Amino acid sequence: MEKVQDRKRFEHTVGVEYTAAALAMCHGASVSDARIAGLLHDCAKCLSDRRQLSVCEKYGISVSGLEKRNPFLLHAKVGACLAREKYGVEKEDVLNAILYHTTGREEMSLLEKIIFVADYIEPGRKKASNLEEIRKLAFQDLDQAMIRILEDTLSYLEGSGGEVDPMTETTLRYYKPQ
Ligand code: FE
Ligand code: FE
Repeated sequence: MEKVQDRKRFEHTVGVEYTAAALAMCHGASVSDARIAGLLHDCAKCLSDRRQLSVCEKYGISVSGLEKRNPFLLHAKVGACLAREKYGVEKEDVLNAILYHTTGREEMSLLEKIIFVADYIEPGRKKASNLEEIRKLAFQDLDQAMIRILEDTLSYLEGSGGEVDPMTETTLRYYKPQ
């Protein structure tokens, strides 16, 4: 990862790796799967838009209109694909943890939740609101931490005019039925 990421992204990656390991210890998941998924979750993040789109073409990954307009949304799909094709990951759960790390999905596995949450709370993150509270919650109630992160992500995107991936809303509705 050090070779394919810039310094800032690599520091984030290492942060997600050990935060995911700690969450796995706390919640009874495989620590090594958590570390591998954490290490690889942003493996495509530093590729140019063009290279990400060409990986999609090469492996027949469909690209939505939203993703075409915002190719940075693609890095999870492309990352999961490269984890399999380039980095030799075979475990479906690890690949799915990479695939769903930005939006979540309904019925997430424990590992998927761990990576989603670790991505948000790793020690290098400083900007997000309510971080202190969410960090504490992550080690007590993973689902509640997920809900808080999804809510804060959606309200941040609304406030900043960023485009919302409808999957993020679907995930929140699943974990927090009205
Ligand atoms: Fe990411
Ligand atoms: Fe990340």
